[in-house]
Amino acid sequence: MVSDDAFRVYGIDLGTTYSAIAYVDEIGKPAVCRNTDSLETTPSVVFFENADNVVVGSVAKNSVVTHGDRVVSLIKRQMGTKATFEFDGKTYSPESISSLILRQLAQDAVDLHGAPATKAVITVPAYFGMLERDATRTAGVLAGLDVIGIVPEPVAAALHYEATTSASDKTILVYDLGGGTFDTTVISVSDNEIVVLCTDGDDHLGGADWDARLHRHLLDAFREHVPPDVDPEDDEEFLQTLAKTAEDTKKQLSKVESRPVPLRGAGVSARVEVTRAEFESLTEDLLAKTVEIVRRTLATLEQKAPGRTIDEVLLVGGSTRMPAVAARLRAEFGWDPKLHDPDLAVAKGAALYALGRVVHREAEEKGVDAAVETIAAKTGLSTQKLRTIADKETRNVLPKAFGVKLVDTEAPDWQSKPTRYYVEHLVHANDSLPAEGELSAATIYDGQNAVEIELYEQSGAVAGREMGENKHLNDGAGTIDGLPSLPAGSPVEIKMLVDNEGTLQVQATEMSTGKELVIKVRVSVLSTEEVEEAAKVVAGLTVSG
Ligand code: AMP
Repeated sequence: MVSDDAFRVYGIDLGTTYSAIAYVDEIGKPAVCRNTDSLETTPSVVFFENADNVVVGSVAKNSVVTHGDRVVSLIKRQMGTKATFEFDGKTYSPESISSLILRQLAQDAVDLHGAPATKAVITVPAYFGMLERDATRTAGVLAGLDVIGIVPEPVAAALHYEATTSASDKTILVYDLGGGTFDTTVISVSDNEIVVLCTDGDDHLGGADWDARLHRHLLDAFREHVPPDVDPEDDEEFLQTLAKTAEDTKKQLSKVESRPVPLRGAGVSARVEVTRAEFESLTEDLLAKTVEIVRRTLATLEQKAPGRTIDEVLLVGGSTRMPAVAARLRAEFGWDPKLHDPDLAVAKGAALYALGRVVHREAEEKGVDAAVETIAAKTGLSTQKLRTIADKETRNVLPKAFGVKLVDTEAPDWQSKPTRYYVEHLVHANDSLPAEGELSAATIYDGQNAVEIELYEQSGAVAGREMGENKHLNDGAGTIDGLPSLPAGSPVEIKMLVDNEGTLQVQATEMSTGKELVIKVRVSVLSTEEVEEAAKVVAGLTVSG
């Protein structure tokens, strides 16, 4: 008998190419909700069929062939940006489009389990900065979810690994190559703690890039069968079908060593033979990029925890099914990588994390014991099992640096007319959270009576000081004004603090007067008004799978 206030909490892996939603069953095992096609993963593709109806998943993916201009894929790559999409006179942000995918996943969970998917944790690549993380949270809110946490994908994968293998006191490197993003994260796992030591990655590198190489190769090979005056690229339908063929062929080449690929386009039919060796050589540089990032991660680890070695390498993300991945890691580093439920480990780990979060939330009001009792009753789990799950603390690192804008004092005439600026970072990628930093700055010209502070987050994989390498933060600016006329060089001390939830607090003090400015920002891409506007637009749509 299920009580009236029973609920489930969900973990959602909002992937670049595929997404999945999972919950923890009554015996404490994570289980994945199947979609309307009875599949465990749903393509993260959205088809805007008309002004009122949106389709998400495999039908949307297949609609690329017929309605390419009304289909959005790989939206995760645009999270944290101001990109916009127009359909039927309505404007959509990456947050609104992702919210439609989340809404469909939530509906799939409802359809099959009878309980509404409302409380959820959504995962993000470890390398997502705070802006992208907030965009993901906003997408969840727009989907009508109570987002109880945002968790890095490798942390979720490590949680699931720990829960299924009872690995204790190990240093694990998670190599996550998904559809559109790559990251590598070193995590220390013990009985009651999961601590991220360092992370690195490339948010524009993933299976889709492997697909693109094979797509090009197949197209070039097909051209040899086509009369010289015919361009198969003029056949839009052929191109769209080829994209799917390329991905399917890639997946098959993970199992077989060669594959004949039948192609038909521009009035011509032909068979092109592709071998795994050929495919691996076409994509060798992509794999090399991941190896380079692994090396960078190990160098960061050595700085942070000298002498620490890797005990276990976990492969997650669908693209790690390509045999070349494990082989290359073995050859380069002598590791014995393990494929760990690559498509579902993240969603399952997120479900475990979600359960821990609801207990912690409840415990803030009534203490841990009562919280465990309450949540156990509502989820059907034993108190003992729940306690084991909730006892696990996770500690993260700052994904990307934050800094303030300063005047470049190397530029000519900087004192009379500042022309060049740069960003000085106060807290850095891989600083353990909560992270703190300080900077001694100064007024720049005689008679200055105000000091402006503007906050930025690093945008690229490697922190750079150029303005273009940093993103301005919404609401991340303020002025200490009403100062007496100060001489140039009067000190201004700036302190920065980022807490576990990604709230950034900056305190700037003009030292001679003690005048202070405090800026507190929940890092976000869209303003409150923009979120409200987006909520209205997506609420008017029907979403189906
Ligand atoms: P994820 O974002 O983790 O769901 O990863 C999806 C990516 O994994 C897509 O690019 C898929 O094409 C790729 N993928 C899934 N299965 C395989 C496979 N058997 N071999 C190669 N790539 C695969």
